[in-house]
Amino acid sequence: MLFLGLALAFLVVGLIGLWWSRRRWAAAGLPHGQIVYADVGDAFPVQEALYDPRLRLVGRPDYLVRQGRTLIPVEVKSGRAPARGPYRSHLLQLAAYCHLVEAQTGQRPPYGLIRYADRTVAVDYTPALREHLMQTLARLRADRQAAEVHRDHHQPARCRACGYRDRCDEALA
Ligand code: SF4
Repeated sequence: MLFLGLALAFLVVGLIGLWWSRRRWAAAGLPHGQIVYADVGDAFPVQEALYDPRLRLVGRPDYLVRQGRTLIPVEVKSGRAPARGPYRSHLLQLAAYCHLVEAQTGQRPPYGLIRYADRTVAVDYTPALREHLMQTLARLRADRQAAEVHRDHHQPARCRACGYRDRCDEALA
């Protein structure tokens, strides 16, 4: 009888824990599905980074959520969502994770998620976004060989947050 009581108590505690973690997950604006990977905190074991040897591209999304046969990458940003939609750099980062998921699993994610402090934005992984990623990677490779590389944006906030600002001749702030 004592054993049965203890088993029931453990079951109730386990169910409450599960309910609470699902509530927190949903409250964070993240999708339903099994979390198969997390690169934040200690709650899940950190697994290998995603890697595409053909493009020599490597990356770790903050979460990977399984939905059916597909893995959805989730990138978490600490700031609020930009009023005009995700910055180009955020889109490209998410596109890179979508590409890496496809390269590693053979399943193309239809979309990825950017979780900002105030809301979550779903970004379709369209052929156009994939093409934009490929062109950007090609430009990056070309720039590595170039003697001079110039600023490609007009956002003072990006320069303020940049670690190269003190050494950069084209810093906007
Ligand atoms: S400080 Fe220079 S390197 Fe950094 S973001 Fe601005 S332009 Fe780019």
